[in-house]
Amino acid sequence: MTVAAAVAAGTLPGRVWLYSNYHCNLTCTYCLTESGPGVRRRELGPERMVTVAREAKELGFTGLGVTGGEPFLLPELPDVLAELAELLPVVVLSNATLFTPARLARLDQLAGTPVHIQISLDRPDPVDNDEMRGPGNFGKVVASIPRLIERGIGVRVATTVEEIDDDELGRLCELHRRLGVPDEDHIVRPVVRRGRAVDFDMGVEARQPDLPAELTITADGSFWSPFGPTVHSGRLDTDLLITRTTSPLRTPANALLRLIEDRPPGDDARLNIR
Ligand code: SF4
Repeated sequence: MTVAAAVAAGTLPGRVWLYSNYHCNLTCTYCLTESGPGVRRRELGPERMVTVAREAKELGFTGLGVTGGEPFLLPELPDVLAELAELLPVVVLSNATLFTPARLARLDQLAGTPVHIQISLDRPDPVDNDEMRGPGNFGKVVASIPRLIERGIGVRVATTVEEIDDDELGRLCELHRRLGVPDEDHIVRPVVRRGRAVDFDMGVEARQPDLPAELTITADGSFWSPFGPTVHSGRLDTDLLITRTTSPLRTPANALLRLIEDRPPGDDARLNIR
């Protein structure tokens, strides 16, 4: 079966993920990649990102995801996103703490393009939110979201929690609606017990069958899912590594197709990790 046929049949998710970098200005307690300011950057590089996107489109993938680390620490990222968006729709994950007026101005080129910035916001109250994500995080996020939307840039909100009761979730939903993000652009997902979450004894165990088979490209190889190339005790996890080779993209894509051949439909939905 080809990628295009598997995507059309719904047996292979259409999105290819790119790990742009592993460094971050924050050090969240549940971070899958143990990201922080001083970690090894493992950057994919702008040219490689665009090449992978081009190959992904040719193979029949239908979307791109960009994650890290904090992708917006890369000065070239707005230009790269604009190039990627000419090929396929893009979602880029961000902590939304770096959107200074100068950075926002560089994002103007993304207005009206198929780029969505998916922003982490975990709790409706600053103290609870900042406990896991760091001081001042809540204030920066709630200030950034309307500024991005005003500029014509698509925004989604992602909430990552161990547990949240109905009252707190209701207040969080009121908040994201007030900021301009509709319900269909809000996702809630569990903390996954990988990376720093292991040290803080948090999250759900996610095995390969629990995770959608979303081809994920990093500087160190290709993985089963964006939850694969995590880092613990400074070392890259390789339990979900597919191939060390990422070029041509056909090589890991075919390896992934072989792995999903006998997978029952819906088998990956148990933990709602998407
Ligand atoms: S969870 Fe995201 S924002 Fe937090 S340290 Fe990790 S990469 Fe940075």
